[in-house]
Amino acid sequence: MELTNINTIKDVMQRHGFTFSKALGQNFLINPSVCPRIAELGGCAKGTAAIEIGTGVGVLTKELASRCDRVFAVEIDERLKPVLAETLAEYNNIEIVFADVLKTDMNALIRDKLAGSDKIYVCANLPYYITSPVIMKLLEERLPISAVTVMVQKEAADRLCAEPGTRECGAVTAAVRYYSTPKMLFKVSRGSFMPAPNVDSAVIRLDVNREPNYTVADEKLFFRIIKASFAQRRKQMLNPLSAETGITKQELAKMLEECGIKTSARPEELKMEEFAAICDKISHKK
Ligand code: SAM
Repeated sequence: MELTNINTIKDVMQRHGFTFSKALGQNFLINPSVCPRIAELGGCAKGTAAIEIGTGVGVLTKELASRCDRVFAVEIDERLKPVLAETLAEYNNIEIVFADVLKTDMNALIRDKLAGSDKIYVCANLPYYITSPVIMKLLEERLPISAVTVMVQKEAADRLCAEPGTRECGAVTAAVRYYSTPKMLFKVSRGSFMPAPNVDSAVIRLDVNREPNYTVADEKLFFRIIKASFAQRRKQMLNPLSAETGITKQELAKMLEECGIKTSARPEELKMEEFAAICDKISHKK
C-alpha cells in the first residue's frame, strides 16, 4: 500500500472514519523520499531493532519494519488501530502499544518487546507539541538505545543542534548535549505533510553517549543551574545563579573567577564544561 499517496491515505481514513486531530500533532508525511532517509540515516538495518513514537497511518513504521529485525511503536490514538491493522498487515515484525509515550515506562517496554536486541534505534516524526519532553524522556531515562533520529520543527532543530556558547543554545540544548551528540541531517518543507503545518521541519540525529559528555558531582544541581541560567539567558550569570543556589553574588563571583569564567559572563556565552566546573564548585561548597 502506497502510504505517501494522498488518495490512498484519504481512502483508508475515510473507510475507517478517521479524521486528523490537530491537538495530537497529526501531520502525516506524504513526501516519499523522507521516511526511507529517516530509516537509513537513523541506523535501521538487519540485526537492529527500532522504536517509533507516533505511527500515524504507518508510513515510517513500514520503512523501519522493512529494514530492522523488529519494530515496536507507541501511538496515543486508538482510533488508528483498525487503520494500522490494514496498512501494516503485510509485516509480522511490528508491535504497536497504544499509550501516551510520556506516561509509558519505556525501559520496561524495551525489556519486554525488544529483549536480546543490542542495537536499538529510535526513529520518529514527533508530534511537535511534545518535542522537548519526549526527547528529554528518551535521554534522561538512560534507555539502552544507540541513537534518536527525529523530525522536529526547523527552529527546534536549530536550537537542539546549536553549539554551546552561541545565541541559539538554550536549556534543552545543554541538557541534550549532556547525554548525546546532536547532528542536523536534512530539512523538510511544510508541503511534505498532510495537512501541511505552518512551519518547516528538519530531521536531527542524537547519538547517545554511553557516558555523559561531562562529569559532574551532582547531576540534579547541574540541570537546576542550567535551567535557571537559561531562563535569564541575556542577564549576567551571577543573578540567576545566586537566586537558584542562595549563595551570595560575591561568593559566586569568586567561584566563577576560580573556574576562569568572567564574572560578567552571560549564560549563553558559557561552554558546557564551564557550567560543569561552576556546578562542581557549588556542590562542593554545599
Ligand atoms: N509517523 C507518522 C508520519 O510520519 O506520518 C505520524 C507523525 S504525526 C507528526 C505524530 C503522531 O504522534 C500522530 O500519529 C499522533 O497521534 C501521535 N502522538 C501524539 N501524541 C502522542 C503521545 N503523547 N504519545 C504517543 N503518540 C503520540
